[in-house]
Amino acid sequence: MYSYSKSEMLFGKAKEVIPGGVNSPVRAFKSVGGVPVFMQRAQGAFMYDVDGNSYIDYINSWGPMILGHAYEPVVKAIQEYAAFSTSFGAPTELEIKIAELIVSMVPNIDMVRMVNSGTEACMTAIRLARGYTGRNKFIKFEGCYHGHADAFLVSAGSGVATLGIQSVPGVTATVADDTLTAPYNNLPAVEQLIADHPEQIAAIIVEPVAGNMGCILPQPGFLEGLRQLCDANGILLIFDEVMTGFRLARGGAQELFGIRADLVTFGKIIGAGMPVGAVAGPKTIMEHLAPAGKVYQAGTLSGNPIAMIAGYTLLQTLNDNPVIYQQLQEKADYLVKGLREAFGASGSVYQINNLGSMLSVHFTEYPIIDFTSASAANNELFRRFFHAMLERGVYLPPSAFESWFMCNALTTEELDATIQAAKAAMQAIKQ
Ligand code: PMP
Repeated sequence: MYSYSKSEMLFGKAKEVIPGGVNSPVRAFKSVGGVPVFMQRAQGAFMYDVDGNSYIDYINSWGPMILGHAYEPVVKAIQEYAAFSTSFGAPTELEIKIAELIVSMVPNIDMVRMVNSGTEACMTAIRLARGYTGRNKFIKFEGCYHGHADAFLVSAGSGVATLGIQSVPGVTATVADDTLTAPYNNLPAVEQLIADHPEQIAAIIVEPVAGNMGCILPQPGFLEGLRQLCDANGILLIFDEVMTGFRLARGGAQELFGIRADLVTFGKIIGAGMPVGAVAGPKTIMEHLAPAGKVYQAGTLSGNPIAMIAGYTLLQTLNDNPVIYQQLQEKADYLVKGLREAFGASGSVYQINNLGSMLSVHFTEYPIIDFTSASAANNELFRRFFHAMLERGVYLPPSAFESWFMCNALTTEELDATIQAAKAAMQAIKQ
């Protein structure tokens, strides 16, 4: 039996000095209950906590660790560059190199602006879309999450959904009024919003594969339809690829689905676990950003050399080894097949959504296509499944409203151990 006594002690102390004991809400295990596990170190596909327990990790820092934790070339590069100074506040050649690399990997972009998080990337993309079009409103989808900037905290997924917060205190009605929402995968609802707000909508921002209400795939025609509606109405299409970028394909969802976005936002993998985000797009739009243009955006630590070398090293590996994406899909196929056996044997109804190295499990007989269907699943059973897996050394996202992320350090041995754990967990929670 796993003991969590040190984690319990640390959580008690943390709650005294950090609101809720964590620096980002989803870490708190609020919806699954219990004490969050305090980590000490991680290597490859494994994390090790302060009580000496080990876990096969299916969060991978919520996405960045696509090749596993403490990937040696990244660690070495960070160590080398740290000795040169942790920040200059002045331009470096490295920033050009990573921008050039990203432009060469991702379709339809000429320029990249580095920021410090996915939130900043999405915030910047919306400001840029507004500045470029001269319009104020934008459309987002229920259950999608684009960071914690005020305008995005309307019908948001991830921790907002996990905590069941309907309306976020501190976000003014004036700001929220410019955020229009539609159900994911629902083109008629988007068409209606556009018809109701003629020439007022600057952008549609979408997670091309949603990962913040579990993993939800775009239904055939959805992304194509958004592209057409944007073209017909002078609206910019923003792909929020903070999760999907460099994870689903070298060039992200644009490459995978063959659909052009006007602006793309990145985070997570782009910094290899360092705090980085980016917004990218064609020159015609990007040059509206200051100092080339008037849409102001800035950051003291943006393009931070340690973050840049970490991201550059990881992206180079992905660029040079596209087979990684095939390997990840094969590993996901293997895992999904095993999970289906485990859930099938238990007699529980379930849905597994998967694309590439993103997947999620919902306990329901109905397909999960949007926030309403995700919310209707049996989240109590998920809660019990989560804890039964944790006790068996498998670390899953502590909410059904989050995607699982696989890393390429996983071997058949770990996948088999995960499947065995799922079989045992399902038998245990049935009783
Ligand atoms: N967009 C998406 C799709 C995300 O999943 C997230 C975070 N999970 C964000 C934006 C915000 O990124 P960050 O937490 O780095 O601010």
